[in-house]
Amino acid sequence: MSPTRITILGSTGSIGVSTLDVVSRQPDRFHVYALTAHRNVERLKAQCLEARPRVAVVAEKAAAHALQRELEAAGCPTEVRAGPQALAEVAEAPEVDAVMAAIVGAAGLLPTLAAAEAGKRVLLANKEALVMSGALLIDAVRRSGACLLPIDSEHNAIFQCLPTGYVCADEVAPHGVERIWLTASGGPFRDRPLDTFGDISPEEACAHPNWDMGRKISVDSATMMNKGLEVIEACWLFAVKPSAIQVVLHPQSIVHSMVAYNDGSVLAQMGNPDMRTPIAHALAWPDRVASGVAPLDLLGVGPLEFREPEAQRFPALGLAYRAMEQGGTATAVLNAANEVAVEAFLSGGLAFSDIAVVIERTLDALPTQAADSLERVLAADAEARAHAGSEIGRLQRRAVS
Ligand code: NDP
Repeated sequence: MSPTRITILGSTGSIGVSTLDVVSRQPDRFHVYALTAHRNVERLKAQCLEARPRVAVVAEKAAAHALQRELEAAGCPTEVRAGPQALAEVAEAPEVDAVMAAIVGAAGLLPTLAAAEAGKRVLLANKEALVMSGALLIDAVRRSGACLLPIDSEHNAIFQCLPTGYVCADEVAPHGVERIWLTASGGPFRDRPLDTFGDISPEEACAHPNWDMGRKISVDSATMMNKGLEVIEACWLFAVKPSAIQVVLHPQSIVHSMVAYNDGSVLAQMGNPDMRTPIAHALAWPDRVASGVAPLDLLGVGPLEFREPEAQRFPALGLAYRAMEQGGTATAVLNAANEVAVEAFLSGGLAFSDIAVVIERTLDALPTQAADSLERVLAADAEARAHAGSEIGRLQRRAVS
């Protein structure tokens, strides 16, 4: 069997590092074609020296030149390129079989679309691409015959609980699926008194009790916007309405999600909370390979709890359901407003409890349009960012006065 040649978009991030870890355990099976970073050139350099990809991509030309010189001096044959066009090139290159889409946020949309249009096996971590433009991405997958495999642990779990032969983006209802249970840890604030939410610091929000992740998704987990984005992602991946998806708090993060069938069966996928499991599953699918994840000690995990998330504690979750019901550009608006609000929170310019306020006001203010072209989606994204920015300004002025 010839090795699978892989591009890892966002290799310096949390998912990227885990992907390289899995890949390095199967050197005969997986070869790295390209690695990409934004600004973390030091980590990218170390990764290039280890994996020796054909191409590496960074944001700035000057950084690319400097890295090229350093890699040449170290005898590493990698060619270094720069900018968004280079990201799309390594996603659609004919030498590539599979693309790990692990850039965080809206920046991941264009290279993910390029991989889908080129008919690759797309390993989708960048949920924001589906949230912003689910219709366009699914359409590209269908037209090109690309294979879309979910990396998000919940969606990967759901995929594993669906019948053999099921293809992502096809309806699950004809397979007897009645409900999808999306599990959520509830993040670091699931039991924190509500009247202290105004004082939450970025460090507290990024300290997830069960998962080690990047800063943006950690804050999204704390607000449960991450679960909201996952509801939208699941609607596209499994062709279901939001009402068929039920979010359930499961603080132990052992059951990664469940599928309920019309005969009363509920199938769950379980394992230790480590992203290398879904990554290894999607990389090797339909085979299984070792991921380095410790076996689940079922006798040692203790009781598993399931409970309903409180709407008042997690208003962002309700906003995500609302945006998906609205359809069109509403989910792109939700995503953009959330990114701007999270960035403001992380840099100390917005209270944690105001993240959902900014998103709700932005959704209220901007009309929903059909998300039928990339231009419209990007225009809605830009408009939402500008509006969210001005809402943050208003909240800051109110806090000062
Ligand atoms: P990180 O913040 O850890 O990493 C993000 C990666 O994207 C880094 O390689 C970063 O480069 C790169 N990047 C950031 N901005 C840009 C940009 N403007 N252009 C190009 N590249 C950019 O994120 P995670 O790994 O945590 O998450 C990645 C994606 O996977 C997200 O969409 C997240 O929602 C999803 N996901 C993550 C999970 C997790 O456990 N971490 C679980 C499920 C889904 P640099 O390092 O140079 O800044």
